[in-house]
Amino acid sequence: MKIKFWGTRGSIPVPGKDTIIYGGNTTCLEVDLIDGKKVIIDAGTGIRSLGREFESPKEDVDIYILITHIHWDHIFGFPFFSPIYRSSTRILVDGYNSCMKGLRYSFDNKMGDGLFPVKFEELKADIQFINKLSHGYLEIDGTFIDGIPLCHPQGSFGFRFREGNKTLIFMTDNELDVKKKSFNDCVDFCQGADILIHDSHYEPEEISKHRGWGHSDYQSVLDLALSANVKKLVLFHHAPGRKDSDIIKMTILCQDLIRKKNSNLEIEAAKENSVLVL
Ligand SMILES: [Zn+2]
Ligand SMILES: [Zn+2]
Repeated sequence: MKIKFWGTRGSIPVPGKDTIIYGGNTTCLEVDLIDGKKVIIDAGTGIRSLGREFESPKEDVDIYILITHIHWDHIFGFPFFSPIYRSSTRILVDGYNSCMKGLRYSFDNKMGDGLFPVKFEELKADIQFINKLSHGYLEIDGTFIDGIPLCHPQGSFGFRFREGNKTLIFMTDNELDVKKKSFNDCVDFCQGADILIHDSHYEPEEISKHRGWGHSDYQSVLDLALSANVKKLVLFHHAPGRKDSDIIKMTILCQDLIRKKNSNLEIEAAKENSVLVL
């Protein structure tokens, strides 16, 4: 599997001089499976640049899009994903149970004049909701994907990819609380993962003021990664006010905490345009 980050930011895009290293676009990942199939996770503003990769008119686009949930920062790049305006594009959608409603609403929200955004029905691409994940798992040519409901206002959905003996987990917009049963469910789901990409929106000092907001602090994420024997942890959904220098400090702090526990857990923070190979 090859994983590329097109958007790493939470809540709202924050372009500018303070977000050059880790990026200002909201959630979008590209996962290339070993057989050549492509899976996109979320349609935050990062999906616009990803769409430009498909601009060769000779190539038909045949992809999957998995949506974690329909908060704006995870869907409002979709009208700017250029392949949806071509009849040669086929998109199979899965994930959060009302994800098609969210994608439709980014067009049919009655805020435009019908010219922009156009109506969802006017998109030329073939876009179908396949609804496999809420009933079990999705298999794409030997890669198995399943999901877990997350703790987030109105809900969110995490994804686990298993390809051969490699496991990738993506969980964003998830409030971990070590005292709750849902924490143990997450530990079971993440057990032995090679890579865990997880929402680390807050610092531990910030979390008490933001309980119930549906995001995690990095200490809880470290607890999850350690309890589940994860090999690599990637901090994700950076708070919009978090500058590059703050994210560097946070990452070093997490690495120090792990060293004190004599763990081999690798830690990094998700960077827009960076690639992980598994
Ligand atoms: Zn979010
Ligand atoms: Zn959210």
